[in-house]
Amino acid sequence: MNYVEFYKESTGLFFNSNVYDVHHINEDRKDNSIKNLVMIPKYIHSQYHILKNNLPSFGINTKVVSLIDMGNGHNSLYINSIVSFDECLKICNMWCDYKEFLLGRLPNIHRIYFDNNGIRIYSSEKENINGRT
Ligand SMILES: [Zn+2]
Repeated sequence: MNYVEFYKESTGLFFNSNVYDVHHINEDRKDNSIKNLVMIPKYIHSQYHILKNNLPSFGINTKVVSLIDMGNGHNSLYINSIVSFDECLKICNMWCDYKEFLLGRLPNIHRIYFDNNGIRIYSSEKENINGRT
């Protein structure tokens, strides 16, 4: 059984594999334990890897050295890349929470539901991230 099928079996969620990927959280593709896997939408998955790969190009010791941007946009480029990655991580963490819900460890705090085609049902209501009704 491959890790996608394993994820489906373990969580009981038969999601549409054309729309969703299963990501290896620690990026070790040999570690197919349920703890290391999370299902996320394909477009978020590719964003995650692109944004993450763009971060080190600034160098790990990069600092914002001045309030003035020296005319090259370096500060805003650096900060925007972190903000974008943070937004992406928040969405990934939501799907991690959903996995915990499927495994019976958390309530469905993001109120995520899937239809019979394995596609998430979106409500027009604003997402309730506090888990309150
Ligand atoms: Zn991945």
